[in-house]
Amino acid sequence: MAWDMYQERILDHYKRPRNFGHLDHPDLTGSENNPLCGDRITVELSLDGAKKTIQDVKFNGDGCAISVASASMLTSKIKGQPLAQVSKTHRQDVEKMLAIPLSPVRIKCALTSLKALANALGATDTPLDTSDGGGEAEAGAASAPSAGNPA
Ligand code: ZN
Repeated sequence: MAWDMYQERILDHYKRPRNFGHLDHPDLTGSENNPLCGDRITVELSLDGAKKTIQDVKFNGDGCAISVASASMLTSKIKGQPLAQVSKTHRQDVEKMLAIPLSPVRIKCALTSLKALANALGATDTPLDTSDGGGEAEAGAASAPSAGNPA
């Protein structure tokens, strides 16, 4: 079944993540936490002399199979690409890379690396927009009662 093949691909990226580690002198760094699952991903980028192209990329952190696999796939995809092109990466591209059905909770895992990348690009003139334009994702959380206990 195709599902097994996709899962195996994700497990392969999880067990042997591509581009995992640190750069000596990253030009750009961005981090993102996904508190729902405990995923923490930091993306480090080094640019070419003209600051237009991603020469090298590493990511590090800790997370579930989906978050690590998506970071592994995403960093493989953007390595060597111009920033102008990378900034056009959409959440749908990440979902396509993973190629499995993702629940709303799992989508947050999958997008942790993309948001870390967006944070890294936030200070450049090629920012990355991670919103999907729908805005339905936050609807449930807004009305939840506060978990804090009055002292
Ligand atoms: Zn996760």
